[in-house]
Amino acid sequence: MIENDLIYNFAKQHVIGASGLVAMLMPQTFGAGIAVKSLDGRYQLVNKAMENLLCSSTYPLAGMTDTDLFPAEVVTQLERSDQQIMKGVAAVNEALNFSVKGLFVQCLWLKFPVHGPDGQVLFIGAAVIDLARHQDVVKLQEALGRLQLANQELQRNLAELDHVASTDKLTGTWNRRRLAEALVNEMDRLRRYNHPLSLLIIDIDFFKKVNDVHGHTAGDKVLTMLASLVQSTLRTSDSLTRWGGEEFIVLCPNSTMSTAVVLAERLRESVNQTIFPDVGNITVSLGVAECISNETWEQWFNRADAALYRAKSGGRNQTQFAAEVPTQLDAGENVAANFVKLTWHPAYESGNTNIDDQHRGLFGDANKILGAMLTGRPPEEVAVLVKTLLDDVAKHFHDEEITIAAAGYPGAPTHAKMHQKLMADASELALGFDAGTLNIGELFKFIAHDVIARHILKADREYFPYLKAL
Ligand code: GH3
Ligand code: MG
Ligand code: MG
Repeated sequence: MIENDLIYNFAKQHVIGASGLVAMLMPQTFGAGIAVKSLDGRYQLVNKAMENLLCSSTYPLAGMTDTDLFPAEVVTQLERSDQQIMKGVAAVNEALNFSVKGLFVQCLWLKFPVHGPDGQVLFIGAAVIDLARHQDVVKLQEALGRLQLANQELQRNLAELDHVASTDKLTGTWNRRRLAEALVNEMDRLRRYNHPLSLLIIDIDFFKKVNDVHGHTAGDKVLTMLASLVQSTLRTSDSLTRWGGEEFIVLCPNSTMSTAVVLAERLRESVNQTIFPDVGNITVSLGVAECISNETWEQWFNRADAALYRAKSGGRNQTQFAAEVPTQLDAGENVAANFVKLTWHPAYESGNTNIDDQHRGLFGDANKILGAMLTGRPPEEVAVLVKTLLDDVAKHFHDEEITIAAAGYPGAPTHAKMHQKLMADASELALGFDAGTLNIGELFKFIAHDVIARHILKADREYFPYLKAL
């Protein structure tokens, strides 16, 4: 961690330092003015020669803009060359004539970009020579050419350093620093646009034993293989971070709790099915939490971590979910402790009031069941809730089929077939529930994955345009 931080700081400083490179490469005897301007148009670094050229030794140029310093026609010329640099041109020459404090100045401006590690222009650099004093323009241009090469090489090195500083050495996943960077953006998107955002913590079960029995090197191999296995199951927008030791974090942008739980269960199952060479079978426990707008990273992480703790104490090789809203619990009534809530987002609306009300109602029914099951309510009580959900689903499917057929949706017959299939699966689940063989994972998968994620949030969306056209 400390080593990575050092490399990172070095990388960051040297992006800025690239402008210092300019001064080093330009022979001082040239007396060339050197200036570096940030993209807001303010000069950040200006050397002595530049100040002399502009007769401005009485005030600092840093912080000023071209408009503060030059006549309008010169500003226009300078803006034009800035724009060329921004478009990706490697260097621009510009001859400028102007008067400062009554003195006529005739000079040549050479502009060049200063790139950041991602190849974007961070600053615009300028080397300026006073033509009245220096005729040796060719030499200056050669020096500029060398500067360009040195700058390119520096940027390549920075990009490599940035990669090293963002990556976990053993597993090749992101490290904490890289995750922290991504979190800033993703949590911002949640706050601004209400894009859902979830996280999974994965912790290997009894990993200490793997090391004790098979040795540390075998343990390392398990970590590497586990990382590739998880990586291969993720969407490209999801990221995997090694949080520490044998603990990993998956960050899932645009995922609600239900999607993240389905992913967690898929990951758990694929680890469970994998034979790790020399070691055999291992299992993982997972804690999942969807970020609540305005909560801090620590609060969000702690909720996922508390869920992970429950997965461990509940027997390991399982997924647990965090309380959606950190609730003050009444003494003796542990209702909200494990509560899973499927969150309704405005983006799920079709525009048809009846269908949207019914969809929202189904989210509510599902939440009641999940809450009741996860808090260990008596089976009779849960059975009543399951029956309510199934009745509401049946009524909703019936109404929806009429509405979409009337709207002229060509996929209406196929859609009705999907409904039949879901109803058949639901009846089977209800039988399992009555017989006491239904487990909570199956029920969650059916409600959250089959009905909500795949049907309401995916298949149903296809008819939305027809309703909107009404
Ligand atoms: P639990 O199911 O409660 O998570 O048990 P556990 O043994 O996995 O958890 P614990 O936190 O007690 O032990 C984690 C072990 O992970 C201890 C440490 O030896 C091992 N470990 C941590 N980092 C590494 C690593 O980089 N390589 C190897 N081989 N082992 C590591
Ligand atoms: Mg641990
Ligand atoms: Mg562990």
